[in-house]
Amino acid sequence: MRLVTTDAIVLRSYNLAEADRIVVCLTRDSGLVRAVAKGARRMKSRFGAALEPYTLIRLSFHERENRDLVAMSGAEILKSNFNLSTSGESAEVLAYMGEMVVEFAPPHETDERLYRMLTACVEALAEHEGAERTITRYFEIWLLRLAGLFPDFRNCASCGVAIDLTGSTTVDVELRPYCKNCGPVNASILAPDVIRIIRASQQLSPSNFVSQHDLNERQSAEMGDLTHRLITRAIDRRPRTLVASSR
Ligand SMILES: [Zn+2]
Repeated sequence: MRLVTTDAIVLRSYNLAEADRIVVCLTRDSGLVRAVAKGARRMKSRFGAALEPYTLIRLSFHERENRDLVAMSGAEILKSNFNLSTSGESAEVLAYMGEMVVEFAPPHETDERLYRMLTACVEALAEHEGAERTITRYFEIWLLRLAGLFPDFRNCASCGVAIDLTGSTTVDVELRPYCKNCGPVNASILAPDVIRIIRASQQLSPSNFVSQHDLNERQSAEMGDLTHRLITRAIDRRPRTLVASSR
């Protein structure tokens, strides 16, 4: 058994047997980890409040060969996000982010960029009250982008010419953008301000993005349309992959 210590963010936890909990974490160094916290439900548990969702922890665990579940040996709180997880709107956003990360993160595969993106979004939620919608759109774009599922909005998908930001842009069912000459029939339209916001999101940290962009309802809806279509498609495919690989 190898002892691993890494920074992690708790995504969810649930009860196991009488006294234990299973904790699902996204770690900086080991990807998505499912850990058994022995005795976590006892009054004097050594884990204390460290297993609350969205707490940043220094996690230690023992890897077990050929086992999906690892054995948690320590969890030291780096930052409690208890306030966030108990207030309505940010709690909803956190729950959504957690669910998406569990879907998208490959288990036990290091993805430091996903870890940094998620923790930066959680931090932005804590710093910018009322920016839940904007942070959610940012998170979705980056989740898809890190998974290689977000289209490149700089150039026409057909002829390669730079996308003109003065007019509307057409996108096909795969959400690839087209210039005025190449736009396919039955294409959807994206407003220029939305394209500009999407591009900005790719260059800014979540905190900077939120400081500079307060999405109105239309912008958020247009972007959400786009990201939700891509996410739905990605998740539809993903369960089949999981079943096949666990056989
Ligand atoms: Zn073109």
